[in-house]
Amino acid sequence: MATDIASDRTEGLLEDTERYCATNYQPLDVVIERGEGVWVWDVEGRRYLDMLSAYSALNQGHCHPAIVRAVRTQLDRVTLTSRAFHNDQLGPFLRELCAATGYDQALPMNSGAEAVETAIKMVRKWGYQKKGVPDGQAEIIVCQNNFHGRTTTVVGFSSEVQYREDFGPFAPGFKTVPFGDADALAAAVTDQTVGFLFEPIQGEGGVIVPPDDFLRRVREICDRSGIVMMVDEIQTGLGRTGRLFACEWEDVRPDVLIVGKALGGGLYPVSAVLADAEYMGVFRPGDHGSTFGGNPLAAAIGRASLKVVLEEDLPGRADELGRWFMGELDALASPHVAQVRGRGLFIGVEIRESSGTARPYCEALKDRGILAKETHGQVIRFAPPLVVEKEVLEEALEEIATVLEG
Ligand SMILES: *Cc1c(COP(=O)(O)O)cnc(C)c1O
Repeated sequence: MATDIASDRTEGLLEDTERYCATNYQPLDVVIERGEGVWVWDVEGRRYLDMLSAYSALNQGHCHPAIVRAVRTQLDRVTLTSRAFHNDQLGPFLRELCAATGYDQALPMNSGAEAVETAIKMVRKWGYQKKGVPDGQAEIIVCQNNFHGRTTTVVGFSSEVQYREDFGPFAPGFKTVPFGDADALAAAVTDQTVGFLFEPIQGEGGVIVPPDDFLRRVREICDRSGIVMMVDEIQTGLGRTGRLFACEWEDVRPDVLIVGKALGGGLYPVSAVLADAEYMGVFRPGDHGSTFGGNPLAAAIGRASLKVVLEEDLPGRADELGRWFMGELDALASPHVAQVRGRGLFIGVEIRESSGTARPYCEALKDRGILAKETHGQVIRFAPPLVVEKEVLEEALEEIATVLEG
């Protein structure tokens, strides 16, 4: 009886969302009302392990107490000033972010896509002003199978038909090379090329790890041809892959680093572009802006989110747990699994075409208390909050084994 009333509530909430929300997503049928750490609870009181972490925006876990405390404190002070005035959180936030990443300056934005757009504007302007590219000719090289957000400029250089179809016309000035192919990049560079924009591990594209040495070779090519190495670490950054940034796996320092997602600790959209003064210096007052970018609430959240990543050594946890967890997934030897790949706690399990798509496996996992989401049709992404305990992952493995071996 109690269960019936509760499930009526789920049904009602699903109906509301389906009736009133644009159907731009196809969520799993679970209605979450509470989250804490690695766990979420649905409206019927069932508990689930969150293995998506809001696409890695929740590396610190749900409602991390230190981040929640920072919000509460800031809520009692001031939340929005606009950049027309200074606020007492932005300077310290960007100083701490620059110290953690090793760049001269940062430009704060809100969503990841806005930060990508910001980086594109900066590098184009650098190209015209510093490199001497003729007006309107600047070209940025991107990768096939990329994901950098959903604005019209950004989907314009996507290779995913659905992201683009019927949304054109698109901005010119982008050229595509295969991901992980340094020779193709070298061959694509022209006098008009200003930058190369890419993800160090493709996330939405299906957790694709490039060949060893790719980042180092990109660094060399960018240096040799005088183009800007622009790395989108919105999903891979802030500990996810077992390093603070995935580029550290090859000891490579990009010229432009784009961060977002976990910079907001799962509480609020906070993104930023980081670069040295040579690039950031092209911006003049009025060139670019955002009403909410760099607001004091966001800055206070960014400070707390970054502090948790560093103080709780989330990169170290992801490295250690990821190695072990990926090994265990590999050892399942499921007839349905084509490949297990990834780095740190950023893991993709590719389902064989002959076993159907990844979606039914995600639905079966949900019924067993594990929330994961398919990406690119065939891949289940496992990316729990980095605060997860090994014992929790051990229990999850049993459920995953049952689903994948069944
Ligand atoms: C999520 C993501 C973005 C876009 O971030 P939004 O906050 O959704 O705009 C851009 N690049 C990468 C690599 C991402 O994973």
